[in-house]
Amino acid sequence: MAVMSERPGAPARAPAPRGSPDAAARRAGGPAMTGYGRPGPVTAPTGSRGRLRGVRRCDVAVIGGGLTGLSAAVELLELDPNRRVVLLEADQVAAGASGRGTGLLGPRVGPALTVARKRYGDEVARAAHLWSVEAVRHVVGLVDRHGISCDLTPGGQLVVAAGGRAVEAQRREAEAARSLGLPVELVERRSLPAVAARYDSGLRYESAATLDPAALTAQLARIGEQRGLTVFERSPVRRVRRGLLTTVSTDDGEVVAGHVVVALNAYGSGPGAPGGVVGLRVQAGVTGKLPEAALRALDGLTTEPLIEQGELAPYFRLTPDGRLVVGGVVERGTHGSVAPAPGRLRSAVRALSPALAGVELDSAWAGPIGMTRDGLPVLGHHPDDPQLLHAGGCNGHGLAVSAYQGALLARWIARGELEPLTRALPWVRPRAPWVPRGRLADLALDRYLAHLSNAA
Ligand SMILES: Cc1cc2nc3c(=O)[nH]c(=O)nc-3n(C[C@H](O)[C@H](O)[C@H](O)COP(=O)(O)OP(=O)(O)OC[C@H]3O[C@@H](n4cnc5c(N)ncnc54)[C@H](O)[C@@H]3O)c2cc1C
Repeated sequence: MAVMSERPGAPARAPAPRGSPDAAARRAGGPAMTGYGRPGPVTAPTGSRGRLRGVRRCDVAVIGGGLTGLSAAVELLELDPNRRVVLLEADQVAAGASGRGTGLLGPRVGPALTVARKRYGDEVARAAHLWSVEAVRHVVGLVDRHGISCDLTPGGQLVVAAGGRAVEAQRREAEAARSLGLPVELVERRSLPAVAARYDSGLRYESAATLDPAALTAQLARIGEQRGLTVFERSPVRRVRRGLLTTVSTDDGEVVAGHVVVALNAYGSGPGAPGGVVGLRVQAGVTGKLPEAALRALDGLTTEPLIEQGELAPYFRLTPDGRLVVGGVVERGTHGSVAPAPGRLRSAVRALSPALAGVELDSAWAGPIGMTRDGLPVLGHHPDDPQLLHAGGCNGHGLAVSAYQGALLARWIARGELEPLTRALPWVRPRAPWVPRGRLADLALDRYLAHLSNAA
């Protein structure tokens, strides 16, 4: 397992499972691989991209080489191939959440529909959900348009619940969806697929897919570079100075840009980032190729991942080559030496089906997610500077949201305004709601996470 750097502003490398070809390749200085230890067909050789040195001028500087930043960069170049776009990444492309995700691409953004209706009204609750469906479509379209090879498998998602209160909450959510005319189906216990037999009900969402997010991110970087994007790696941004043009400084250089896109997500205290985004770490793991009997027991999981309802609940999907991906243990911080607790993930895997008794994880890793107090992302610009834009705070469900928000920022820059359907959404804002910081807040957060983990 890769050890994360403790240096502020310098996040970890993408996970390299111990003993995997990825780890071996890294030691040998060879090519990095995609998220699940398979060779990435076009993943950049580790450290092949230069560090920023000296002064550069450009039209748009992007800070952060994850899905948000790269999708903004690619969209900017699609809209105007002559635009000069420079991307600065503290570590290497896909070093953050985007290279560590579990690959569930699905609709839903922010709180449950029942909560969203009360907080924002029916019209906004419905628009927000439809926007999230559009975000999924956007990613599928991006993969299609550029012929990206990332195991994209279209399907749905099944959110499952156990116990009276959770089942009741699902009934209310399905009812809310029905009143808003949204396609969310309540699945009664008797109709759940065999793999979900131990649960009491489910909510089935259409318009979803699974994919390998590390492969998607790495290839987006390549596509951007083929179109003229300049990517600097190992170039953490230390300072953003606003003015007629904005100056972005790293240790060895500066980029002077007309617009700046800040795409730091969980690294919410980074320069230029909007306030209110707190970084947590979420853990994930993957088994080796499962035996036939286990694959039969998990029938359907390739096209319909299973997500347990609840804050810390595990979720599962099968890769097209028959490995089980599991995620869901959360802890504090984005940096630090990470020793994932594969025990909890392993128990979750074994509890899924008796056919998985004795199955071990091939690797486990952790990665940063950006949380906000109200559970909504944040998309907008600096309160005094419309040229300094940001997107982040995806609350752990950002595969679709981050890539879509990156593209929306690009269109905003190109057209001078945010498109009307997005403009009306409650997460278009200069910052997310204030969150307390410091020792006491950290203690409270630790207690909350411990409580969730005991409840899980
Ligand atoms: C284990 C795990 C599983 C997940 N599973 C799912 C899932 O199944 N479905 C789903 O929808 N979402 C999932 N997510 C969330 C999803 O991966 C993220 O929401 C998404 O990738 C965020 O993309 P991003 O570009 O905004 O952030 P990131 O990918 O984190 O990119 C931010 C980048 O900024 C860089 N950076 C930081 N500081 C600086 C600096 N000072 N200067 C320059 N660069 C800097 C970082 O190195 C990083 O590369 C998961 C996340 C994790 C960690």
